[in-house]
Amino acid sequence: MENILLLAHTEADGSLGKAGLEALATALGLGGALTVGLVGAAIDAAAGQIAGCGAVRFLAVTGDAFGQPRYATDAAAAEALCRAADCQIVLAAGTSRWARALPGVAYRLGGRVDTHATCLAMLGEAPAVTRWFYRQRMEAVLSRSQRPWVVLLDPGCVAPWSGTPSAPGTAGTATVEAVSVEPPATRTTVTGYQSPKSDEQTIRPDAKILLVAGAGWTKKQADGAVHAAEAEQLILAFLRQAQASLGGSKSVVDLSGEGEAVLHCMTHMNQVGQTGSTPRHAKGLSTCCHGEEPHVVGWRFVNQRRAINLDAGCGWARGKADVLYVADAFEVMRHVNAML
Ligand SMILES: Cc1cc2nc3c(=O)[nH]c(=O)nc-3n(C[C@H](O)[C@H](O)[C@H](O)COP(=O)(O)OP(=O)(O)OC[C@H]3O[C@@H](n4cnc5c(N)ncnc54)[C@H](O)[C@@H]3O)c2cc1C
Repeated sequence: MENILLLAHTEADGSLGKAGLEALATALGLGGALTVGLVGAAIDAAAGQIAGCGAVRFLAVTGDAFGQPRYATDAAAAEALCRAADCQIVLAAGTSRWARALPGVAYRLGGRVDTHATCLAMLGEAPAVTRWFYRQRMEAVLSRSQRPWVVLLDPGCVAPWSGTPSAPGTAGTATVEAVSVEPPATRTTVTGYQSPKSDEQTIRPDAKILLVAGAGWTKKQADGAVHAAEAEQLILAFLRQAQASLGGSKSVVDLSGEGEAVLHCMTHMNQVGQTGSTPRHAKGLSTCCHGEEPHVVGWRFVNQRRAINLDAGCGWARGKADVLYVADAFEVMRHVNAML
């Protein structure tokens, strides 16, 4: 097996995030000699966290300039680590930070990059990447002869490294070699983060349940009236009580831009489907959504799918859901929330 470099950046608190630990688990599964390359303002906590993982070498680029996500500094750090480690395979989590910087690094090194990998494993003698094409309609397993081969692993595909030291007594004692990098001149200054208030957060990638709301919630109901306010209250109550994540169909997220009766909790960030996201949740419940193919293609990685629709002939009934409740979603969700 070829040598592997795992690139990992620290989180705001200095630790390694879940996505980085997932990439570490994947790197260890390949069986080659593993070098870990850390990037951050300070990496002591992160290095201690994975000291016992079995890596043969720890390298690090540190300094205030490397604590912030920014193309110029991240690419400089990653390039220096790749050159110092001299490994054929470079693996990193597909975080927004690495997704932005590493394709450029692969180009600088004369290598190749594959993004959105869902798996990197040995296929015979050579490592092979699994990834989906055409918005998750086709899955391919592919290999490359060019090196270095940079692979970005999508978060949520494998269990994170559990933290079990490979040899007794080795946890927390990594010997880290510093790789010196002069921070490049940058025009980008990171001034801080803006996050929604925690009570407004509706996208929870790690939630067990995805609740999808469709445009039906904003349409005239049996009494001839629109009940958008009640719809929003039912949806938010479910999200709070089940700690579920909220998805939307394209129709419902577009409505908010067209000045119609809207669900205020819904933004384009919530859209699931061909031109939206493909979230990974154990269970999904679609409500007031027709289940058309461009929407359902975003459900590829939702394991158990249920839908509530008044229309027994909707798309979900055509083999796209495990269970379809032909019912009024207002009524069902009122009961569900009461039970919760
Ligand atoms: C190139 C392309 C890309 C696209 N990408 C996406 C995408 O990424 N994501 C996406 O979602 N769509 C996408 N679409 C659009 C998609 O084809 C559909 O138009 C859209 O998903 C429909 O949204 P909907 O099901 O919420 O609305 P509608 O089709 O209006 O369906 C509303 C449903 O609500 C039901 N309903 C109403 N009231 C109730 C009630 N009280 N209880 C239960 N059910 C009720 C109705 O029976 C109906 O089935 C794309 C289309 C194209 C052409």
